Amino acid sequence: MNDFLSIEKVFRHFGPLRAVDGVTLQIRQGEIFSLLGPSGCGKTTLLKMLAGFEKPDAGRLILNGQDITDLPPERRPVNTVFQNYALFPHLSVWENIAFGLRIARRPKVEITAAVERMLAMIQLGDHAKKKPAQLSGGQRQRVAIARALVNEPKLLLLDEPLAALDLKLRQHMLAELQAIHAQVGTTFIYVTHDQGEALSLSHRIAVMEAGKVSQVDSPRGLYEAPATSFVAGFIGDANFLEGRVEEPLSHGRLRVTVAGLGRLVVTGHATLLVGQTVRVMVRPERLHLTQERPVLTAGENALPTRIESVTYFGPHAKAQVRCGPHTLHVQQPSGKTLLATDTEGWLHFEPEAARVVD
Ligand code: ATP
Repeated sequence: MNDFLSIEKVFRHFGPLRAVDGVTLQIRQGEIFSLLGPSGCGKTTLLKMLAGFEKPDAGRLILNGQDITDLPPERRPVNTVFQNYALFPHLSVWENIAFGLRIARRPKVEITAAVERMLAMIQLGDHAKKKPAQLSGGQRQRVAIARALVNEPKLLLLDEPLAALDLKLRQHMLAELQAIHAQVGTTFIYVTHDQGEALSLSHRIAVMEAGKVSQVDSPRGLYEAPATSFVAGFIGDANFLEGRVEEPLSHGRLRVTVAGLGRLVVTGHATLLVGQTVRVMVRPERLHLTQERPVLTAGENALPTRIESVTYFGPHAKAQVRCGPHTLHVQQPSGKTLLATDTEGWLHFEPEAARVVD
C-alpha cells in the first residue's frame, strides 16, 4: 500500500481534555481523505497539527518519507483552505492567487503562467481584476482553493471549506472540488461534520469520536458495514434493535432473538457467541412495507406492523411503524404505493439488511 502520509500515534491534550487521543492513519497519495465527526471530536486539531499550527504532545507525522512533526508551517509542503476563505480584501483575485509565488520570489513568467492556469481551472478568468468583496461566496472559496494550490503543495488541507455556503451552492462546490482534484491530483484532507459531504466527496473517510478514530473505510464500506453503532448512527439514518444470539447459520448469518419480535435472521461476524447480547442495525431504506404478507426468499424476515405516520419528501417517503414494542423508521421511493397512516401491514427485510454493530 502506498502510504504517502503517516499519522503515527498522535496525541494532543488541552489540560485534562484529550482533543486528539492516539490517532494513527495512513493516507494514500492522491486520495481525498475526510476526517468526519461531531463538533469537538478533534478533527480540526488534527488538521492543525498537519499544517504545523499545533504541535503534537506525542507521535509523528511522516509525509512522503519526511518527518515533518517539528517543521514550522512555512517549511511544510502543505497548504490550508479555511471556512472563512481568508483572502486579502485589498488584493484582486489575480493578486490573491499570485501571493504565495511572489513571497517565494518565483520568476514573473512562472507566476503569470501559474495564475492563469489556476484562473482557468476555477473558471474565474473574467473576474481576475475583481476584489474578493465583489465575488459570491462560492467564487471566493474557489479563489481560496486556487491560492492554496498555486504553489503545488503535496498536501491540501480543507477545514470545513463549504460550511459558509447555502445548500445548493455547497452541492455545486462539491462537484467543483472533485473536478479540481481530478485536474491537480493533489492529496486532499477534508475536515467536515457533514456526513453527506464526506460520503459524496471522499475516497476514504475516518470517522472520529472524542479524539479517537472509530473506523476508516470507503463511503460505501462505512454506510453498509459500520463497525459500531456510533458510526452507523452518524453516517445516515439507522434503526437499532437489541437482541441475543440464538445460533450461527451459514453465509455469515445468525439467528437472534429480539424481545417482542421473536427470531430474526441477521448478518454478523464469526466471533459472536451463542447467548451474547448484540445490537443490530437496519437502514430505513432496506425495510420494505407491504399490505399483504409477502412471499419470502430464504431467510428473509417478516413482521406484522402498524403504520403510525407517513411523511412525503418528494423523491422518497418516510414512514414510522410499530412492530411489537419497537418503533422503526422506513424509507421508500415515493413511486411505490405507500400504506396509509393507521393501517396494518407487513414489514420485511433480508438478513443482509440487518447487521450486528456492537
Ligand atoms: P468543530 O467542528 O466544532 O471545530 P472539531 O472536531 O474540529 O470540532 P477541535 O476544534 O479539534 O474539534 O477541538 C477538539 C476539542 O479540543 C474541543 O473540545 C475544543 O474545545 C478543544 N480545543 C481545541 N483547541 C483548543 C485550545 N487551543 N485550547 C483548549 N481547548 C482546545
